[in-house]
Amino acid sequence: METECTYCGSDIERHDPVFVNEGTNTSDSQAGQFCNYACLTAYVEEEGLATGAACEWP
Ligand SMILES: [Zn+2]
Repeated sequence: METECTYCGSDIERHDPVFVNEGTNTSDSQAGQFCNYACLTAYVEEEGLATGAACEWP
């Protein structure tokens, strides 16, 4: 199993890992894993994932 942070590439198990899934119900579509919420937030902002997506969920 890979333990690299999606954002910064550090070993997430040395921190307080946060996992993100894409989609609604499936647990096998993991979109990313991060050291902590700081990396998660930075990744989302950098990728623009928060822009325009919030109101389009079914
Ligand atoms: Zn990180």
